[in-house]
Amino acid sequence: MNHASTTKFASAEDQARALQEALQANGIMPEGYVEQWEETFDHWVPENGARIVARAWVDPAYRKLLIDDATAACRELGYGGPEGGFIVALENTPQLQNVIVCTLCSCTAWPVLGLPPDWYKSFEYRSRVVREARQVLHELGLDLPQDVQIRVWDTTAETRYMVLPMRPSGTEGWSEAKLASIVTKDCLIGVALPRVEDARG
Ligand code: FE
Repeated sequence: MNHASTTKFASAEDQARALQEALQANGIMPEGYVEQWEETFDHWVPENGARIVARAWVDPAYRKLLIDDATAACRELGYGGPEGGFIVALENTPQLQNVIVCTLCSCTAWPVLGLPPDWYKSFEYRSRVVREARQVLHELGLDLPQDVQIRVWDTTAETRYMVLPMRPSGTEGWSEAKLASIVTKDCLIGVALPRVEDARG
């Protein structure tokens, strides 16, 4: 008998519900635990990282802090805690594009990037970006000049990265809020660059 082909799995939702009921029945899960995490997830959005980037673009002292101690720089704007206890900022330059991956699973700096996109969790991205980064970036819509080096950083649950993109030309005199509006989750992962035409506000 081929066991694998005859085994039926419950949906992820049903599995989660069953697990939650079992934990509650055994008094292991405190009251309001799930609701508390849902509330936290609502605050873990890439707009937080975008705010950090915009601040670094306009404030040289903050930029220095971000490069030297990103955890402290994030905390200064109110971001940190679980899944963001140690954050490292990777500074792009005209010669260098930083890209983040978690080859093991799906780690990102949740408080500043938000939850990882589905493609980031895929086996294909995790296995290919470390071997053929330029090709993977091309497939994701980012073509970099050949003289730009691509450096891929493998995150872990202990060390979480955020990319500090370069401020594009044509943004002179913009407010921090307008600057932040062009910094997407993909920019913070390093697979896209901020685009002037995406500005809001
Ligand atoms: Fe991971």
